Amino acid sequence: MQEKMNLLRDLQEIDQEISSIEDVCSEYQQELGAFKQAAAEVQAMLDQLAEEIGQLQQEEAQLQLELLKQRDHVARAEARLPGIQTQKEYVAVLKEVDVAKKGNKELEEKLQLKQKEIAVLVEDQNEKDAALAAINDNAQARGSELNQLLSDSDDKLQKQKQARESVVTDVPASLLRKYQGLFKRRNGLALAIARNGACLGCNMQLPPQQYNRLLQGGDLQTCPHCNRILYVEVEV
Ligand SMILES: [Zn+2]
Repeated sequence: MQEKMNLLRDLQEIDQEISSIEDVCSEYQQELGAFKQAAAEVQAMLDQLAEEIGQLQQEEAQLQLELLKQRDHVARAEARLPGIQTQKEYVAVLKEVDVAKKGNKELEEKLQLKQKEIAVLVEDQNEKDAALAAINDNAQARGSELNQLLSDSDDKLQKQKQARESVVTDVPASLLRKYQGLFKRRNGLALAIARNGACLGCNMQLPPQQYNRLLQGGDLQTCPHCNRILYVEVEV
């Protein structure tokens, strides 16, 4: 029995190591994922900005076109003035020019506003471009560190798994099943030390008779409270 318990204790040590390596790996993976997510979020904002800027630039181009047409209109009306014969027509064309010029001024103001709007968005775009570059730089530097760490961890994991294989072959199947079930249910602690008549897995008192049997090292004993497999530390 003592020998089996020693195997189980070795096994539990290996399994705890495996599970802590796996935890660390999943933290590394999360950190890698966080870079990807941060980059994707900024990229989504950049896509949105590019779309808005594109829309505004189209509107700007239309205003430019309109302004050119109207300026041409003014120029043509003004060119007509010297050839006009009647006072009435002269006044009418002057008025037309005046109205068209006012219209142009409004168009110019609209155009300026549009250009300001675009400039604000372009500034935002530049900032986000820089932010994305910083994230990517970081992701690259830390990312290669993380990948190295992951690969080191994987090596350790493989070694532990090999060690596990060699221990497991000597543990009887039914005992192994019992241990594995407990290991999962009891958060990686399937075996518990019994000391001074108590289970240190759950800190409850064991029935004195059971504790005595355990000290004698006979059959397998499990804690009646937490079900963990009990063992006593043997003085060497
Ligand atoms: Zn217990």
